[in-house]
Amino acid sequence: GLGAAIVTAVALRLVAQRNKVERLLAPLRLSRADLERVQALMKQEMERGLDRESNATSSVRMLPTYVCHTPDGTERGKFLALDLGGTNFRVLVVHVEEDNIHMANEIYVIPTAIMQGTGEALFDHIIECIVDFQMKQKLTGQVLPLGFTFSFPCQQLGLDKAVLLTWTKGFNASGCVGQDVVQLLREAAQRKQHTTLKVVAVVNDTVGTMMACGYHDPKCEIGLIVGTGTNACYMEERANVGTVEGDEGRMCINMEWGAFGDNGCLDGFFTSFDQLVDEKTINAGKQRFEKLISGMYLGEIVRHILLALVEEQVLFRGKPSHNLQNRDIFQTKFLSKIETPGLALLQVQGILCNLELDASYEDSVLVREVCRVVSQRAAHLCAAGMAAVVEKMRESRGLEQLTVTVGVDGTLYKMHPHFSQNLQQMLRELAPRCNVTFLQSEDGSGKGAALVAAVTCREADPCSP
Ligand code: BGC
Ligand code: MG
Repeated sequence: GLGAAIVTAVALRLVAQRNKVERLLAPLRLSRADLERVQALMKQEMERGLDRESNATSSVRMLPTYVCHTPDGTERGKFLALDLGGTNFRVLVVHVEEDNIHMANEIYVIPTAIMQGTGEALFDHIIECIVDFQMKQKLTGQVLPLGFTFSFPCQQLGLDKAVLLTWTKGFNASGCVGQDVVQLLREAAQRKQHTTLKVVAVVNDTVGTMMACGYHDPKCEIGLIVGTGTNACYMEERANVGTVEGDEGRMCINMEWGAFGDNGCLDGFFTSFDQLVDEKTINAGKQRFEKLISGMYLGEIVRHILLALVEEQVLFRGKPSHNLQNRDIFQTKFLSKIETPGLALLQVQGILCNLELDASYEDSVLVREVCRVVSQRAAHLCAAGMAAVVEKMRESRGLEQLTVTVGVDGTLYKMHPHFSQNLQQMLRELAPRCNVTFLQSEDGSGKGAALVAAVTCREADPCSP
């Protein structure tokens, strides 16, 4: 009868809708074989990056850091530290004592206009923040050794000389690429009279995080950041580092894995959504791996998928939502919130409503599914990268089994309800011969820069065995 016909029509419509959703999301669901392929490609790019001949064409740059030891607990002193390149800019004073590190810090905002203005204005702003901090902490007049956590790719020529290779994330200040950032800082200090800085070390945030965690756990020989951007560093045998002289001991390598795939080797994995996100960034075509994983981009991937679902008439009743056109309306913290276990769908609806998205119950279910697919892909890709790192370390050291700790930091890793679990579970599957522990750093960037500064101040040649 008529009733049965209506039921059938509704059922058919639901099946058709589900098929559309599945078709759209399929390219984002990576199989085990896909992830093994990504792992193999990462390994290949790492090896090419370490080799002097192929370094220039590898998308993973494998930059030497001149950090040759993790902390041994004998580091001491009082240091200034700067942390530039994450969610916030911070100035810190760090006391490294017998078995305790304590610190005080201030957070300063760097307006987008300054991030993307001139280099002079950026470094002037940094100096003003330092001066303000010294005043607040009553440090004016003291010239403390300074460790600079600068979270961008740099070609280091020593611990205190770091030439910026390219900006990433939201930064694009002019006149800095190709320059030594320590020199840029010193020049800005000179422009502002009465400011003397004693910069002793520049470190990447991954390195700072590894060092900070290494202070508590000697097995910590890897640093990982999954925040605004993503990257990793690890201790490599010097004999394998073809880009610096010397065969003894180890050196920490800043991988700059965010740029993995910039030479086309990951092209088969990018979806149309990833292309749309990339095109709208200030560094299109660059940091392609980072744009699949880190906090600055996940919300945008979700937004583009939602737009496609509206277009396919399976979301928001197919009504084009004005708000969904706004870039960055979906911040990554919404992903973390929407995926919180046990969160009632009514609350999901509430979150969407706050964004002025008029979501039905079914819409909320679908939005949550999209968030899950995107964040799970990110965690699994991160696992594939990390699997390549730990396997490389195991092989380099000729071990049957490797036991190692990863020091981790970053808002996405710390705040997302499933990211770390998804990452660790997949890593166990991809690298079964490695026993990997993850240790969250507390303020790794600040502490780590101070620890590197401490080693530098203690030893004339911090790379001596
Ligand atoms: C930068 C890295 C940094 C990472 C995490 C990337 O965009 O290139 O140097 O470690 O972000 O902050
Ligand atoms: Mg940071």
